[in-house]
Amino acid sequence: RQRVLSGVQPTGNLHLGNYLGAIRNWVEIQSQYDNFLFIADLHAITVPHEPATLAANTYTLATLYLACGLDLNHSTIFVQSHVSAHSELTWLFNCITPLNWLQDMIQFKEKAVKQGENVNVGLLDYPVLMASDILLYKPDKVPVGEDQKQHLELTRDIVNRFNHQFAKPNQPVLKLPEPLIRKEGARVMSLTDGTKKMSKSDPSELSRINLLDSPDEITKKIKRCKTDPVRGLEFDNPERPESNNLLTLYMLLSGKTKEEVAAECQDMGWGQFKPLLTDTTIEALKPIQEKYQAVMNDKGYLESVLRDGKQKAEAIANQTLNQVKAAMGYSIPL
Ligand code: ATP
Ligand code: MG
Repeated sequence: RQRVLSGVQPTGNLHLGNYLGAIRNWVEIQSQYDNFLFIADLHAITVPHEPATLAANTYTLATLYLACGLDLNHSTIFVQSHVSAHSELTWLFNCITPLNWLQDMIQFKEKAVKQGENVNVGLLDYPVLMASDILLYKPDKVPVGEDQKQHLELTRDIVNRFNHQFAKPNQPVLKLPEPLIRKEGARVMSLTDGTKKMSKSDPSELSRINLLDSPDEITKKIKRCKTDPVRGLEFDNPERPESNNLLTLYMLLSGKTKEEVAAECQDMGWGQFKPLLTDTTIEALKPIQEKYQAVMNDKGYLESVLRDGKQKAEAIANQTLNQVKAAMGYSIPL
């Protein structure tokens, strides 16, 4: 069975971009793979964070994984900081990763601008930690949103560099992972600007719909979202990013095909479309929200899930870490 690895940071609320770009795809393919899905709490501190909320955000995200439909028969759910091999492998990879590879990363440049004077080494090093997260589990596929494509390429560069420097010919230590990026939903855009991706770190709450938003909040956000003065909605018109984004949301949340949605909405005004999108979103999120409440009320169960996850993940991660260390010459037996 092929293996899948992916994760989300516990920074703020999960939004429709995280769901449609990542988690929903994990759920759809989970029965075909052996899945390792983690909560990226080490990545969460690459921007200033609040210690008082880190644990609560981690519980929330783990609960959302289950609420979105991850099934423990197929998927191992664990917390990144519970498996120390992630940090240790990052150090080893740091020492073989050229600085300029990291300085060229689009996400680093974008997030660094927002941080101003406060850019820390961790933000620059984010893609190396991500490479460690992935390579420890030797996955075949890494399902992510479009924004992570460049980081996946860097992970592949690290594999090639490491194997070239330290592995014996035809006996690679690290395995090349493939990104799995679905076309539809791979890049959900902000509600307030159709040219920017929907993001947890966007300061405006109006820019995103969170999976745990109440019907009132969803109604308000869609009412206020950016539109254009044109009548009739259409896909794929580069002049109309908001139209394309909101139609895509409607298509994915309603389960209708692109053709069906295009035909249904081609003559609609925004005043008619917005309530339709609102109702569809509320309906689509309702089962997730109900399941969320049920699991959140049973913290003991959640902790047992994370304890099991840590054990399974650690066994695999430590094995890879030991192979990497041995290849690099850390070989004194104790
Ligand atoms: P941050 O702004 O803090 O980086 P984020 O919203 O980008 O948060 P992450 O935890 O970094 O969320 O990403 C988790 C997963 O969600 C990744 O697979 C990422 O590719 C995907 N993702 C994030 N934003 C979007 C989006 N707007 N559309 C589709 N997928 C997305
Ligand atoms: Mg991100």
